[in-house]
Amino acid sequence: MDYWTENEQKISLIQGEITTQVVDAIVNAANSQLAGGGGVDGAIHRRGGPTIMQETRERYPNGCPTGSAVISSAGHLSAKYVFHAVGPIWQGGQAGEPELLRAAYRRCLDLARSNECRTIAFPSLSTGAYGYPMSEASRIALSSCIAYFQEYDSPSEILFVLFDEMALEIFRGALQTLVNNDSD
Ligand code: ADP
Repeated sequence: MDYWTENEQKISLIQGEITTQVVDAIVNAANSQLAGGGGVDGAIHRRGGPTIMQETRERYPNGCPTGSAVISSAGHLSAKYVFHAVGPIWQGGQAGEPELLRAAYRRCLDLARSNECRTIAFPSLSTGAYGYPMSEASRIALSSCIAYFQEYDSPSEILFVLFDEMALEIFRGALQTLVNNDSD
């Protein structure tokens, strides 16, 4: 299942590269120092240019706590904003990782809503360098978004940009399961 829609709100799953998405907000998989890294973060700063990091250094000298996110402009990216989200580092699942991951997604959706972003693109937070198992992370990512849509009518479209075929397949399966359980 590649998308889910209800009351004119939509969640879509695609395979691709997050930095080229044409959306109002692109979510970065940042670290709590907002210090730059590989993966999504490296790609965003490479393509978006140095102004993004200059801005986050000035506005957020203390970084961003795990389970939260901060907003900046988007440099050369074709988005209005970048939301720098800090997901948890996987430590086996007993250190509050699910709640922190859910909170990071939710904070990004709050930022989208309060900054009038209709469309937002997420990577799969925490599932690269931070080691969160993709199947568990995909369930949390999608269920956080579906729950948010049940509370608020904005944003109107959430795009999950999955880097490879395997990640896309896992997200597809998770979406199918969530939607089936929802309609029971
Ligand atoms: P984290 O540190 O939160 O784990 P990473 O950036 O290392 O963040 O990885 C998060 C996920 O994003 C991984 O599943 C990784 O394969 C994927 N990813 C890496 N680069 C990109 C990109 N340019 N666009 C979309 N997804 C990406």
